[in-house]
Parts: sequence; C-alpha cells; structure tokens
Amino acid sequence: MTTSRTPLIAGNWKMHQDHLQAIALVQKLAWTLQDAKHDHAAVEVAVFPPFTGLRSVQTLISAERFELRHGAQDVSEHDAGAHTGEVSAAMLAKLDCAYAIVGHSERRQDHGETDAIVGRKAAAALRHGVTPVICVGETAEDLEQHGASAVPVQQLRDVLAELPAAGEIVVAYEPVWAIGSGQAATADQAQQVCQALRQTLAEVRGDEAAAATRILYGGSVKSGNIAGFMREPDIDGALVGGASLDAAEFAAISRFQ
Ligand code: PGA
Repeated sequence: MTTSRTPLIAGNWKMHQDHLQAIALVQKLAWTLQDAKHDHAAVEVAVFPPFTGLRSVQTLISAERFELRHGAQDVSEHDAGAHTGEVSAAMLAKLDCAYAIVGHSERRQDHGETDAIVGRKAAAALRHGVTPVICVGETAEDLEQHGASAVPVQQLRDVLAELPAAGEIVVAYEPVWAIGSGQAATADQAQQVCQALRQTLAEVRGDEAAAATRILYGGSVKSGNIAGFMREPDIDGALVGGASLDAAEFAAISRFQ
C-alpha cells in the first residue's frame, strides 16, 4: 500500500458474540493491542459486532477511550419508516458507527441482495456520515468462467452508479471461494484484482478519489498471511472473519504479523 492511505484492519464477527461476549472480546482486544505497544497512528482497527452488540461496544470504547472503531455488518437502504427488521444509517450514526459493511457475499447469497440494493445501502450510509465498506468478489464458477477481476469490477461499477460522486467509501475485495475456506487468494492474485478495482474507481470517481480510497482484501486472512497482502501497492488492509474472533490473533493481524 502507499503511505498516504491509513491501513484498516476490520473484524467482521458475523453472527457470533452476544452483547456480553462482545464486551469481553473488545476488552481483551484493546488490552492486547496496548500490551503490544501497538502503533495506533499507523493502523486503524475496527470491529463489526452483530447489531445487538453495538450499543455495548460503543459505550465501552468511549468510556475506556480504546483506540478502536466500530461498525455494523449491514444497513437499511431506507432512512426511516415501515420497514420491519431494518436498522437505519441514522440509528448507526447515533451509535457512533464509523462504518457499515454492505454487500457481503453472505447477504448477497442469503438475502438476494443485488448490486443496486447494495448501492442504495451504501448511499444511505453516506447520507448519515457512515462510511460504507462495499464488498465485491467472484465465486469459484465466476473465476473459472471470467477470470478473477471481471465480476468484482462489474459489481463495483454497478454499486458506484447508485452513489453520489463524493463521500468516503472503503472497498473490500472478497473472493467468495476464499471466505471461510482456509484457502486465501495469493497476495499477487489479490493485488491484480485490487488494482483493477482502483482503476475502476479512477474511471468513475476520478484519480484523486481513487488514490485516497482504501481497498481491503478479505478471505481467510490470518496472522500468517497478512504481511504478504500488506506489501502489495493496492491493498490497504483486510476484512477478517473467523480470525477476528480471537483477540490475540486479530491483534497480530493488525500488526501485519
Ligand atoms: P474469513 O471471512 O476471514 O472467515 O474468511 C472473511 C469475511 O467474510 O469477511
């Protein structure tokens, strides 16, 4: 990555950790990071608990002044109204959420979320000052039929079409075949796709925005492979699933070792 972008290590807890477990994990993580004399200025670390944990995590982080940020795993495309079960970006903003993940492949698969829906969710986040973490990535079949870049690039184009020209976004490249499989992409493979995604950002939002936007890699990231990803010029951090549930392992990932 280039030095102008602050790396972001993001822990996607998925549907793990009730609010009491969330408090314990955040405490353990913060202490581990402190003990390791973690250089907070050089890397941003964020956790993404389930919705039920957000208020507890917010309160804990602000009371203890932990150098951690937090975000949600999803957000509604609507601002308010009769949408049973949905959580708005305004509500997330009230909980000090810096980020909301949109378009994770599990939501695309389990809830039929299309790029248009993902784009509208990202737009809703931006309207309320929450930075969307826009997930894109190809399945194993896509990879075989179209190569690695074609599908994620098209997904990003279609999501960006729903967004205003300005506003901070984060892009996460997560090959579906690498998620939870223990089989991460190689750093070289991931770099090629992330470079193509940055090129797409440049075409749609301009060179300056493309150069400022953080692009993360996600899919079986561990302490053993993070350093290789972070050496690549277009990879600015990681979206970490399984390994983010272990405080020591996630702290090690956030030190890129
Ligand atoms: P994983 O998940 O690290 O467990 O592969 C990544 C993700 O789904 O964001």
